[in-house]
Amino acid sequence: MSGKPKVAFYWCASCGGCEETVVDLNEDILKVVDAVDIVLWPVALDFKRRDIEAMADGEIAVSFINGAVRLSEQEEWVELLRHKSNLVVAFGSCAHLGGIPGLGNVANRELIFQRKYVAVPTADNPDEVFPSEAVTVDGTETEGPYDLDLPSFYDTVKTLDQSIDVDYYLPGCPPPSNLVWDAVTAILEGKLPEKGTVLAPNRTLCETCPRNETKPEELTISEFKRVATSTPDPEECFLAQGYICMGPATRSGCGERCISGNMPCRGCFGPPDGVVDQGTKILSAIASIIDSTDKQEIERITGAIADPLGTFYRFSLPGSLLGRTRMGG
Ligand code: SF4
Ligand code: SF4
Repeated sequence: MSGKPKVAFYWCASCGGCEETVVDLNEDILKVVDAVDIVLWPVALDFKRRDIEAMADGEIAVSFINGAVRLSEQEEWVELLRHKSNLVVAFGSCAHLGGIPGLGNVANRELIFQRKYVAVPTADNPDEVFPSEAVTVDGTETEGPYDLDLPSFYDTVKTLDQSIDVDYYLPGCPPPSNLVWDAVTAILEGKLPEKGTVLAPNRTLCETCPRNETKPEELTISEFKRVATSTPDPEECFLAQGYICMGPATRSGCGERCISGNMPCRGCFGPPDGVVDQGTKILSAIASIIDSTDKQEIERITGAIADPLGTFYRFSLPGSLLGRTRMGG
């Protein structure tokens, strides 16, 4: 035993981008490896569940968990890590607020399976066979060394804190390496803020945006544009040009990565403190700058917003007041 603090990384419903950001620490990762023992990191190291189960409760100093909770297996893993960890950090948008996998909450398991295994043009499944949680061979459910169980696929995607108690949140899709490094050093040095803190500045992106000076005091919109069909001016505030930018309802700390690439903010850092629902916040901001009081004209202007739910709740649907689309009647 080295006596160094033990650290775990785990992924649930995620794309792997959050793992990439750890690798992006570059040579600083050597300092992390020097200071801690990594006891779990499925993307890079071959530890098993039984290794974690054999640990004492609280033995892991901190678990960084990325991804939303979509499967029963993910829920079992995060519950296990919660028991074994002193601290749990929700790492990245999906663990924090649901992220892109959380947009699955516009449907349910049945609709998703129908689409994926039957309706897509590439599916050849006339008997409509779907994944099942246990496998039956010759009329007998498999068991023993050949036992094959699949996890349950939940109807609803959950944020990490809808499954387990979470100590801190690292926002972003993915979180930038400097915030990861700051979080790791704060944990190692015991300089931690109040439980529940989002480990990023508590300001809106507009406050740090290099285009802020071009945002008019009296902003109005008479026409919405899309980056798919027109190119924004590279200096002017996106909202002032008619492009939906989530900056007014989004926490800063990302380094304005999208703005620098001439893309409006999509909201991956979630809202700043005090904003309960990021989507409602930006909706209210946008509603207040529509340049008309005429109902038909307002409908014409707002009708140009493609996929409002996916735009305003792109990263936050499971963690929002809505949570999911209501299915059925
Ligand atoms: S609305 Fe977007 S582009 Fe405009 S100042 Fe805010 S973050 Fe910057
Ligand atoms: S500009 Fe917005 S979407 Fe882009 S990284 Fe920053 S918070 Fe995320």
